[in-house]
Amino acid sequence: MTKIKNPFRYGTMTDKLTIESIEKHLSEIKDPETGRGLMTMNQVSDISLNDGHLELTLGLTTHSAPIAKTYRADFESGLRQQFTNLTDLTINHVIHDRPASKVGEIGLTAKTIIAVGSGKGGVGKSTVAASLALGLQQAGSKVGIMDADVYGPSIPQLLGVSGRPSVDENQKINPIDCNGMPVMSMGFMIPEDEAVVWRGPMLHGAITQFLRDTSWGDLDYLIIDMPPGTGDIALTLSQLIPLSGCVIVCTPQKVALLDAVKAISMFRKVNIPVLGMVENMSGFICPDCDKRYDIFGRGGAKDQAEQLTVPFLGDIPIVPSIREHGDTGTTQNNLTNAGSAQYIETLIYNLVNNMATAAADQPPQVQLPVLG
Ligand code: ADP
Repeated sequence: MTKIKNPFRYGTMTDKLTIESIEKHLSEIKDPETGRGLMTMNQVSDISLNDGHLELTLGLTTHSAPIAKTYRADFESGLRQQFTNLTDLTINHVIHDRPASKVGEIGLTAKTIIAVGSGKGGVGKSTVAASLALGLQQAGSKVGIMDADVYGPSIPQLLGVSGRPSVDENQKINPIDCNGMPVMSMGFMIPEDEAVVWRGPMLHGAITQFLRDTSWGDLDYLIIDMPPGTGDIALTLSQLIPLSGCVIVCTPQKVALLDAVKAISMFRKVNIPVLGMVENMSGFICPDCDKRYDIFGRGGAKDQAEQLTVPFLGDIPIVPSIREHGDTGTTQNNLTNAGSAQYIETLIYNLVNNMATAAADQPPQVQLPVLG
């Protein structure tokens, strides 16, 4: 992926300070969600210039919330660099309202759908999926999470939610609410200690129902926790909805990496783009002596990502509190705990920023809403 050098700065010379030159500068800057011009998308308004004091309103959508702080800072410094004779600059920040369109034939309203997969079980895939969803929501985006790991649904446990989804008069399933985040999981439908033997058509039916018949609402991101390894659910998903891509979670040791490579190959086979790799359980920092122990090794996923030309999104060390929060259904605490928060924030920033860069490089086609 080629990075734009400085998307907030165009000409090399300082421009004359006029409303026209300011508008020209702004028209070159792209909305991080769509990759289209901010001006074309009506995201800059109330531009006024008085004695060198420029004031304007910048609107970003909640989809861009995870990268908004950096984007706004770059936007501001780009203006200051381009117009060095500005005496003052006031930028009013607002949320630009742009609801999601319906995607795919099933009419789900979500802007970005991300599958979180792994080659093996036990590498922290569900923990990363739940942490991504919670972190995106904490940043200000509208998020839902679907547990497609029908063989071992652990999202309800990790989020500390239970109950049975009800069905409304239109035969739509009401997902379980986790502090404003809709959650669907087979774990809500079957007793915890019961195993289900899934036949292919049953699996396809369950996943279709989860996506098509659930009242997800208007989502910026739908995170899907995939079962490890197998390709059947990935195939079903790719037939039902246009996935934005998948995130592959793996641990640094060779045996786990080999399976992660297979998982990447499987996603590629069903035409699901790989948005990046995450190295989980990447070393352990002893809380008593601050010494680092690379229990499963370190850096393996980063090297592997490079070899496979997929982005590396970041790592998360082994942090005892991550396991504790998982066991007590308080995964949201990973976002405030000093030992884990920064790693999850970095993953989310890189994920959303990479998507913004890709959108800027190649603005997506306008999606026609599916009626009905
Ligand atoms: P998977 O979905 O790949 O099977 P889980 O997310 O269920 O894996 O995680 C397996 C176990 O490892 C859980 O007990 C979880 O709390 C724990 N775990 C995951 N990531 C970490 C980490 N970075 N540090 C400590 N424990 C972790």
